[in-house]
Amino acid sequence: MSAGIVYLVGAGPGAPDLLTLRAARLLEQADIVFHDALVHPETLSLASRAEKVAVGKRCGKHSTAQKFINKRLVDAAGKYSIVVRLKGGDPMLFGRAQEEIAALEAAGIAFEVVPGVTAALAASAELGISLTQRGVARTVTFVTPRVGAGEDASNWVASVLAADAAAIYMGAGQAQTIADALGAAGMPGTTPVAIVENASLSNARTQFTTLAELPAIEAQQFAGPTLILLGAQYRTAATAVGEYEIERCRVLLRAAAG
Ligand code: SAH
Repeated sequence: MSAGIVYLVGAGPGAPDLLTLRAARLLEQADIVFHDALVHPETLSLASRAEKVAVGKRCGKHSTAQKFINKRLVDAAGKYSIVVRLKGGDPMLFGRAQEEIAALEAAGIAFEVVPGVTAALAASAELGISLTQRGVARTVTFVTPRVGAGEDASNWVASVLAADAAAIYMGAGQAQTIADALGAAGMPGTTPVAIVENASLSNARTQFTTLAELPAIEAQQFAGPTLILLGAQYRTAATAVGEYEIERCRVLLRAAAG
C-alpha cells in the first residue's frame, strides 16, 4: 500500500471563488479527484494534473452507489499519494462523509477533512437576511426530510418546530410533504418561508412565501439545488405579519402548557 492520504474537501455552494485556499491548494496537488456532479467546472480545472472522476450525487438522478465510492477511495489511496474527494458545500453536513471516513479508517488510510461553505450560509448571503438574529432567531436547525431506504424515521419535524429558524436541505420536490408534516404538527401556515435556488451562482433565484403556499410555489419547479428556509426573519410584506406572530405565540403557549 502507498501512503496515500484522502482529503474530504468542501467545494462550497457553487461559485468557484467560494472555495477555501486550502481546498484550492489541495486540488492543485491532487493526483486524482472524485467529485460530485454539482461541482463547478472552474473549480475542477484547478486540479490540472489530476485524473477527475465524477461520482454522482444529483438528487433524484442517477448517482454512484455510496459503497462503490467508498471502495474507490480506498483503492485510490493505494495507488496515489494525494486523493481528493470533492463534495458540494461542506463535507460534514448532509454529505455522507462519515461513511467514507469509516471505510478509510477500516482500511487504515489517513484522511483529512477540509470544510466548505454550506448551502444555508450561501443562501443567507443571497437573501441578505441573517440566519440568526438578535431577538428573532437564536436557534437554527439544519434538517432534511429525506430518509434513505431502511433508515430510522427522522425527527426533523420536531426539530423545525423547536427552533426559531430552519434550513431544509434536499427539500425541493417535497414541498407538499413538508407543508403537510409541519402543518399537522401545529406550525402556522403563515410561517414565513424563503426559497433559494442556485445560491452563490449567477443564476440564483430567491422567493418569499409562506408554509401554506410553499407547495404552489414548488409547482413552478426548481431545476437547480434549492434550499428552503423557515423563520420569522423571512417575513416580507407579502407574508401576513400580524397573523403569523399571533399564531406563533399560540403554538408556543400550547407547547409550554404541555
Ligand atoms: N454538503 C452540502 C449539502 C448536500 S445535500 C452543503 O453543505 O451544502 C444537497 C442539498 O443542499 C440540495 O438538495 C440543496 O437543498 C442544498 N444546496 C446545495 N447547494 C445549494 C445551492 N447552491 N443553493 C441552494 N441550495 C443548495
